[in-house]
Amino acid sequence: MKALVFEKYQSAPVLQEVPQPEPGPGEVLLKVAGAGACHSDVSVYRDFSDEVGPPQLAPSFVLGHESAGWVEALGPGVSGLEVGSAHLVYGPMGCGRCAACSRGQDTYCENAATMPHLAAGLGRDGGMAEYVAVPARNLVPLGDADPRAAAPLSDAGLTPYHAIKLALPKLQGAGRTALVIGLGGLGQVAVQILRAVTGATVIATDAKPEAMAKAESYGAVTVPAGDGQAEAIREITGGRGVDAVFDLVGAAGTVALAMQVVALQGRVTVVGIAGGVFEWSFFTVPYEVELTSTYWGTIEELHEVAALYRAGKIDPGVQTFSLDEAPEAYRLLEAGELSGRAVVLPHG
Ligand SMILES: [Zn+2]
Ligand SMILES: [Zn+2]
Repeated sequence: MKALVFEKYQSAPVLQEVPQPEPGPGEVLLKVAGAGACHSDVSVYRDFSDEVGPPQLAPSFVLGHESAGWVEALGPGVSGLEVGSAHLVYGPMGCGRCAACSRGQDTYCENAATMPHLAAGLGRDGGMAEYVAVPARNLVPLGDADPRAAAPLSDAGLTPYHAIKLALPKLQGAGRTALVIGLGGLGQVAVQILRAVTGATVIATDAKPEAMAKAESYGAVTVPAGDGQAEAIREITGGRGVDAVFDLVGAAGTVALAMQVVALQGRVTVVGIAGGVFEWSFFTVPYEVELTSTYWGTIEELHEVAALYRAGKIDPGVQTFSLDEAPEAYRLLEAGELSGRAVVLPHG
């Protein structure tokens, strides 16, 4: 079968002919409906090397850590899944036995350091192929919802959902405000999730006018990046500041903005991986402000994201490509020229 393979460090992934996977014990073979292209893939193949990055991400493997598909065949010991049924794939794969994995949070597996891979598409063959084999435990049913457009929800949906769910106590009650910084794939979904699960006023900010127009169509009040940005955000909150800020960029400038506009007792969640540094002091940050980071999410939360999608509450906003066009999808992603989340449809 055809697959997009991360073949070597510091070079773009390539289309290759590889053997179709066999589902092992406890696994399911999925016919891939869609696989999303994510910025973190770019970090893996551009920035990592033998010296930089987790050893589990050494090449080669098939990319695609956010995917969805139809059950094609069941491996030994698997039952109860209907052939042809549509599922999202929970990408992270921990040991399955530790306390974190037991609560469906493989992202924080206590044995991650000794695992041979981090996720489907991150150290182990992922969904940028005609077929992928994954543990049955990692499947989240989609019912009759379209799995092709749903694929990015495994990451671009689950990652903001997890960050938002942990911040919900800050958003309970009338007159609350949330801020989304960075309106790429995750940011647009974050706006929609906030609108669907909270009553907060959702403020969104980005440098691109078209990204802000899209966020407005999802119900956000927008503020452009640039001079007066923090003041304009504060004004929308009536001067109180923002109860829950989600920084989908994570650069020094965006973290600084978040800390500038957060309310007393508010929460700032850094989701973006730009690695910006923030200098904290008792005297410069409002009392009881939480500054934290999150990574991906849990299996249970992916069921909740699927429920939102099935109810028509979130649109992942995809731009689709054939498997042959997958290298082009990554080229556009790197160039910042995509208009939505790039999803590769191996079977059309
Ligand atoms: Zn990702
Ligand atoms: Zn574990």
